Amino acid sequence: MAIGAIRPHKMLMHSAVAERAPDALDEAREVLRRTFGHQEFRGLQGDVIAEILEGRSAMAVLPTGGGKSLCYQIPSILRPGLGLVVSPLIALMTDQVAAMQQSGVAAARLDSNIDPAEKAETWRQIEAGQLDLLYVSPEGLMQPWMLERLSQTQLALIAIDEAHCVSQWGHDFRPDYRLLGRLADLFPKAPRLAVTATADARTREDIRSELRLEQSAEFVASFARPELILSAERKRGAAHKRVVELVTARTGRSGVVYAGSRDNTEKLAQALREAGVPALAYHAGLDRQVRIERLEQFLQADEAVMVATIAFGMGVDKPDVRFVIHADPPASIEAYWQEIGRAGRDGDPAEGITLYGAADMSWALRRIGDREVDSAVKQVQVGKVRQLYALLDGTGCRAATVRRYFGEGGVEPCGQCDLCTGQVELTDATQAAQKALSAAHRLGGRFGRGRLVDHLLGKTKDVSEHEASLSTWGIGQELSANAWRDLVEQLLFEGLLREDPNDGRPLVGLGEADAVRAVFRRERPVMVQTRHEAPAKARRTRKGRDETAPSLADQPLFEALRAWRSREAKSQHVPPYVIFHDRTLTEIATAKPGSRAALGRVNGVGDGKLARYGEAVLEVVDEFTG
Ligand code: ADP
Ligand code: ZN
Repeated sequence: MAIGAIRPHKMLMHSAVAERAPDALDEAREVLRRTFGHQEFRGLQGDVIAEILEGRSAMAVLPTGGGKSLCYQIPSILRPGLGLVVSPLIALMTDQVAAMQQSGVAAARLDSNIDPAEKAETWRQIEAGQLDLLYVSPEGLMQPWMLERLSQTQLALIAIDEAHCVSQWGHDFRPDYRLLGRLADLFPKAPRLAVTATADARTREDIRSELRLEQSAEFVASFARPELILSAERKRGAAHKRVVELVTARTGRSGVVYAGSRDNTEKLAQALREAGVPALAYHAGLDRQVRIERLEQFLQADEAVMVATIAFGMGVDKPDVRFVIHADPPASIEAYWQEIGRAGRDGDPAEGITLYGAADMSWALRRIGDREVDSAVKQVQVGKVRQLYALLDGTGCRAATVRRYFGEGGVEPCGQCDLCTGQVELTDATQAAQKALSAAHRLGGRFGRGRLVDHLLGKTKDVSEHEASLSTWGIGQELSANAWRDLVEQLLFEGLLREDPNDGRPLVGLGEADAVRAVFRRERPVMVQTRHEAPAKARRTRKGRDETAPSLADQPLFEALRAWRSREAKSQHVPPYVIFHDRTLTEIATAKPGSRAALGRVNGVGDGKLARYGEAVLEVVDEFTG
């Protein structure tokens, strides 16, 4: 993300931040430069870090890729004692610990997968005061013996990652998170930091009260992700075909395709492989070892497509994911932003494409109806589904809609989503809608969409005498079958028609009676959308940002550096980007540093990495310049 892309839009915090000791942050900046190789803090990072360094708890809502981890990593390094990081997923921990160790920070994790010898060594380090950061899962942390053992240790801070999981108003409630409220009493001296990328106002309030942060400062960054180019389209015809089309138009890049069911991930991955795409399926039903291997394969590849259920994702920090495609729509706007947000974490342009349909919406609404939660929660969840589809099927800038949803004010259209760049043409289709509604009524909700359209066109196979005698039989000759299908979809979205799932063979019937009546009385127009895409433009380069790709002349050196990185990553069994990001390699290829000092000035090259890789990188550069 470009520096300055995150603008604080709202900061409710108590006084002391402005009066903080300037030298505390100078020290933090020094760690930022030396250990992490970054020149400046991004967005609200500095403010959050200053607050924690003062020993006060806080909550920080920063967008995905906004650099949340540094907010607790740097204070953990600077403050005496152990920094405890609570994180919901092992994949996330593994990745972060590997990245920390690469930067020369003493970090470890404790979870059920760690073998006893390693566990013992970690505890030895903790007790000797040698560890800066320890990653744990909420259920692991809250075991009595663990709490007891940690109570003997000085804690620098407690960070609670993905803090929205504590709220049942949020989209990813995890009951285990509720227990974390006790940390306030158990470790009264340790400042606690709750961080998340997605939380609307209500969820933020919940986080504060559940995690006992009522009195603490709240840092909320803008939700803007200017590197993301958003689009959405209604599903039409064979869904797999469209996904294959979208992915094959993006070969050579890494991407994630989200599908709604396990079965669908397997089928889609298969279809993609048949089209020559290196695609892998990932879902919770797979054997654990298989999942680990596929995740590793995906993280290590410069080009790979993961077709996954939402079991895949939280904490998958691959920075160079260039597209996220929802083959089936997400569950809420929060989920949308988080899932789409896995693209473009390195700050370079990336796409988020969503396929959706009225059937997905009714399915989501029905699932809420079946849930055993109280009606207030249900109402909130129904509202979230409706808002999601209003976003997907709407006509206003997508990025702006999301940001407003999260409570941001003064938001401008993004200028790059499909709705900002294309055109939406609205046509009055009220008369055709009346015909379709009458037909559905006459057919008595006994048939599916296809049969309804055939009926309107008078093309029903083996039509019964009764059906052929209905006044609506064949009254729709003026439109094509496709146009009728689109209109039926529109009517389903508007609740004028309703689909009864009927065990996978859905039947179409009339929707809300009042609304239907209003259409017949011409009090309510039915407008259909036709979207015209803007002609494909060359990749935008925004002012002030550098692209991942080096110039043509520097390409060979860049490739050589990548090859070196790939060998290095393989031998260490870590993903390539924990060694260096593409962006750092690009900078090296452009700057062609001739000395360690020069290499050290490149963004992303901290002291630890300079010591570890300086020699090897300079050698690669030397071959090209010498
Ligand atoms: P998230 O907020 O999604 O957890 P991360 O903490 O993983 O984000 O950071 C995203 C990326 O941004 C990482 O690759 C990290 O190295 C980089 N980053 C974080 N802070 C800075 C900074 N101040 N300057 C430059 N890059 C940064
Ligand atoms: Zn837009």
